[in-house]
Amino acid sequence: PLQVVEGVRIDPSSRLTARDHVGVQDLILLEEFSSEEAFLHNISLRFASGLVYTYIGSVLISINPYKDLGLYGPEYINRYQGVHFYELPPHIYALSDHVYRAMRSEYRDQCILITGESGAGKTEASKKVLHFLSNICEASPSVDSLRNRLIHSNPILEAFGNALTLCNDNSSRFGKYMHIQFDFTGTPVGGHILNFLLEKSRVVLQHGGERNFHIFYQLLAGGRESLLDRLGLARDPARYRYLVSVRCAKISPLNDVENWRVLQEAFHAVGFDEPQIETLFDVIASVIHLGNTRYTTSPTGYALITDSTEIHVISKLLDISEETLESALTKKTISASGEEVVSPLGPVQAAHARDALAKAIYERAFSWLVGQLNNSLASKEGGRHAVIGFLDIYGFEVFQHNSFEQLCINYCNEKLQQLFITHTLGTEQVEYEAEGIEWESILYFDNKIICDLVEQKHKGILAILDEECLRPGETTDLSFLEKLEGKIGGHPHFLTHKLGDHKNRREIKRDEFQLRHYAGEVNYNVKGFLDKNQDLLLRNLKEVMCGAGNMIIKECFCPQELNEKKWPGTIGAQFKSSLGKLMEILMSKDPSYVRCIKPNNEKQADAFDDTVVRHQIKYLGLVESVRVRRAGFAYRRKYHFFLQRYKSLCPETWPHWRGLPAEGVTKLVKYIGYEPEDYKMGRTKIFIRHAKIVFATEEAFEKK
Ligand code: ATP
Ligand code: MG
Repeated sequence: PLQVVEGVRIDPSSRLTARDHVGVQDLILLEEFSSEEAFLHNISLRFASGLVYTYIGSVLISINPYKDLGLYGPEYINRYQGVHFYELPPHIYALSDHVYRAMRSEYRDQCILITGESGAGKTEASKKVLHFLSNICEASPSVDSLRNRLIHSNPILEAFGNALTLCNDNSSRFGKYMHIQFDFTGTPVGGHILNFLLEKSRVVLQHGGERNFHIFYQLLAGGRESLLDRLGLARDPARYRYLVSVRCAKISPLNDVENWRVLQEAFHAVGFDEPQIETLFDVIASVIHLGNTRYTTSPTGYALITDSTEIHVISKLLDISEETLESALTKKTISASGEEVVSPLGPVQAAHARDALAKAIYERAFSWLVGQLNNSLASKEGGRHAVIGFLDIYGFEVFQHNSFEQLCINYCNEKLQQLFITHTLGTEQVEYEAEGIEWESILYFDNKIICDLVEQKHKGILAILDEECLRPGETTDLSFLEKLEGKIGGHPHFLTHKLGDHKNRREIKRDEFQLRHYAGEVNYNVKGFLDKNQDLLLRNLKEVMCGAGNMIIKECFCPQELNEKKWPGTIGAQFKSSLGKLMEILMSKDPSYVRCIKPNNEKQADAFDDTVVRHQIKYLGLVESVRVRRAGFAYRRKYHFFLQRYKSLCPETWPHWRGLPAEGVTKLVKYIGYEPEDYKMGRTKIFIRHAKIVFATEEAFEKK
């Protein structure tokens, strides 16, 4: 029914059909009861028409189109600024704008959580958010300069932190939480990047069909002749052990030459100077050369470096002494009861030490790079800032062979799913209860049980792994597996070959354990777990690095760490604690969600694989979110605030309402024509079922 309020017509349904006729643009509005199939059908219809965005209330679903839809750029950024969520077709810009307005209206910190499996489009989405937010206010020299630096930080991070994998040609191999700071006028004044656990094992080894980090190939393909000469490098990656995996994709879909050019531009835009860039490539080249350092075995069985060509180049690039480097790569010093004993390394140990050094150098150079970007983005202004953060992290992944890195990545995704669940499903129900709103509770799978399985003190997988690492010499990867079986063998989400029944036994190898993650089963091979978790870099090598003349290496390796008491803990423990801190950061802000979906596993445009998508809908808990939202209320507001804003719409509440706020609100909404099923009155808040009602009210208010 239409109501006339002093010449303003409120038509709650008018907005929704606007401009966007295929499927429903908000899945809460699905006619039939929200089943998985209805959900799937709706988004596949939209996908076929090039509509890759859909809402569930305020959650944005984004399906990777794998092609340029021409939906972005300045014109779209303008169009989506300052409009209500429902006025235009769903878009990542609409969400960004909504978040920006929310930040401004209450000056509260916001965060946008972008999740989905590898290749689903998280990094692309985060770039769109960044573009939108950095273009949001009037141009001025300082805003332009910050925008320029923010936008150019991406190609740098991607060149060094992304790689071609089987799931994604440009897969993020590190986690990134970036925030933009705004002053009280809503102008961006600075930014900051937090990086998480880089998958450094990739530096020395890649699985079949995958590549090392982009930067290596970009350097070889795009670097000038004179640069490569100085670095002692040839163009062909096939000459370098670290750069060619078995069955490496011969023809890369990536344009390394073009990306190299973009990278150079980015370096200059964020303010790197020539000497810094040169030093950085000295470091990168030294990693490549380390990979080609070969050992022979002496008659007594020890490692020898017979051809010191590589050592010579590395020493020059890093400005270290050739002899000390060679010695540190073939010998180790142990201090035993106050005395130092030097013992030679076997060839396997030596190769191991070399790889550990390459990984350490690369990882630390990456963190150094992030540090430089942060210097460049830092706000020059003091005072309080509100921030909008956005999280783009490696997505859930399952390969043929999954190792410690996948465990960390997938554990991280479990934590994010947990956050989503508590926020959208759990908190929602808790609030209805607190407000005394009648409510039919909805069952959903709570993945806390899996988070606990990984991270619990003493009993969690990471804790058990740490324990095994404490007894070097006595333990192996396989003894770790046995320990797991002994301690958590009965857990419903954990399985091994030995524990499995007839069917599982074939699926799980003897050196694997299986976790039933929220997003599916993954078999982890325990080989290398102990090493990767301990991340040992021999003391001698650290010493050599601490004495380097190369400025970046000097900054990355500080002499204090030679003091063993400063040991930062195992990789697993460090990761767990940095994730814990991240969760705290995220929980202290108002969250918004982008749930990315991958339409097929072939990286193909125009292909919508029902099975692949159905699986994601299921594990992302999307249908449950629709149900919770449908059963619930899209919008809620404290009586006092609601009345304050809209009191002018009703003669009885205008200009002052003297009674209880709740009574004033009742009078007001009855007057403007809310139907009884549109809203409920809680203890302190009014709950409005559909956002469209709120928008119609808001519009009436604005027209007044
Ligand atoms: P990972 O977890 O591996 O980092 P991801 O979720 O970050 O994966 P992206 O790198 O964002 O995935 O996307 C993979 C590829 O899909 C992109 O390189 C791009 O080719 C394509 N793609 C993603 N989003 C879009 C989009 N909105 N429009 C066009 N192409 C896209
Ligand atoms: Mg990514």
